[in-house]
Amino acid sequence: GLETARSLADAGALLQRRDQSFARVQEHYYQAPPQIERGWQHHLIDTHGQAYVDMVNNVTTVGHGHPRIAEAARSQWSLLNTNSRFHYEELVRFTERLAALAPDPLDTVFLVNSGTEAVDLALRLALSYTGQDTVLAVREAYHGWSLAADAVSSSVADNPRALDTRPDWVHLVEAPNAVRGKYQGMQSAPQYLDDLDGDLRDLADAGRTVAAFIAEPVFGNAGGVLLPDGYLAGVYERMRARGALCIADEVQVSYARLGKHFWGTEQQGVVPDIITIAKAMGNGHPLGAVITRRDIAERFSEEGPFFSSAGGSPLSCRIGLTVLDIMRDEGLQQNAEVVGRHLKQGLERLGERFDLIGAVYGMGLYLGVELVSDRAAFTPATGAAARLCDELLLRGCIVQPTGDFKNVLKIKPPLCLSIASADHFLDALADALGAIA
Ligand code: PLP
Repeated sequence: GLETARSLADAGALLQRRDQSFARVQEHYYQAPPQIERGWQHHLIDTHGQAYVDMVNNVTTVGHGHPRIAEAARSQWSLLNTNSRFHYEELVRFTERLAALAPDPLDTVFLVNSGTEAVDLALRLALSYTGQDTVLAVREAYHGWSLAADAVSSSVADNPRALDTRPDWVHLVEAPNAVRGKYQGMQSAPQYLDDLDGDLRDLADAGRTVAAFIAEPVFGNAGGVLLPDGYLAGVYERMRARGALCIADEVQVSYARLGKHFWGTEQQGVVPDIITIAKAMGNGHPLGAVITRRDIAERFSEEGPFFSSAGGSPLSCRIGLTVLDIMRDEGLQQNAEVVGRHLKQGLERLGERFDLIGAVYGMGLYLGVELVSDRAAFTPATGAAARLCDELLLRGCIVQPTGDFKNVLKIKPPLCLSIASADHFLDALADALGAIA
């Protein structure tokens, strides 16, 4: 009896602690988080009817409440939504469409429900295809929360519970981050690649073989910092010389998020062996994919049946197809490029006026504003971002901080953001910067 009573009390305490910690997470961004009830285009609307420009939703590519998605989902749901054991029209149409968008020679698509699952599957594909034992992952990155995705993630900010002890099959390499840390101020790839060569020699000396390298094509956790020119090309060359596969985690930066490029890897001029995508492709509906070469996919299929109950459901495929149709019909890639350029220029101008802005990163509608308390030392202004977010909320804009110091405002609105709303945000930010100065 006592045993049960104690464990129930423990459970109660645990729940209470959890509640408190959830509350703390929200307070970190906002003193009074808005209760969002509706979304419309690139706006979020709270329970009091107050509208905000949504600067955080890179999951919602074509905007909130899009009538074409609502109609597609309704009609597909009424017609058929079952698991993907049967070949049906939407699955074939959607996977063919994705394969056509993918860079050659990637032509084979597996549909899953999230970015985490896509990363997990990509890692399994690489380990089984190569028969080699070690995956290289870049420090400070985030790739998802399953055991395998968590094992290759080490961002403190996005995942404070990241495994302290990494499994044997993971080896972390230094991030090519010129912003701070070991490589501060070094923009050129050779330095990073020399260090990578050192890691590769150490691994070989220890009798280890490399199965894959996984990285985002843009440094997401740091706030959209572009990789040094030639970095991925240099890494991919080294991987291929060892029979290892190159995995590009495109969960954040594909689907025209960078404006000029549909795929993030285009910015680095490389073609990976495996691409993982999610977020944008379902406009918020759970949908993810792994895109790879046929020979890699076939080797994996030979190992036995592979199946995801809801991944690639008719509903997901129909929504996925509609997202691509809307992007094409509404010219959203071009919009991301034009509005993104306008926004970045505006942010850079604010950087000239306010010392708190240390740097502006990114391209397209994937931008970051790094806040520093001392420009010369580039000291992260911890706390300033949260205060700015609160001030921006009062001025009708929703933004969130990122980075291991939570001092980078990450700007990643729906791709339908208008110039007028970008200007509204820039005015609000100028005002908010003045208010906290
Ligand atoms: N990879 C990257 C780069 C991400 O940013 C995320 C999510 O933020 C994931 C993978 C995991 O995706 P999901 O949240 O859909 O599981």
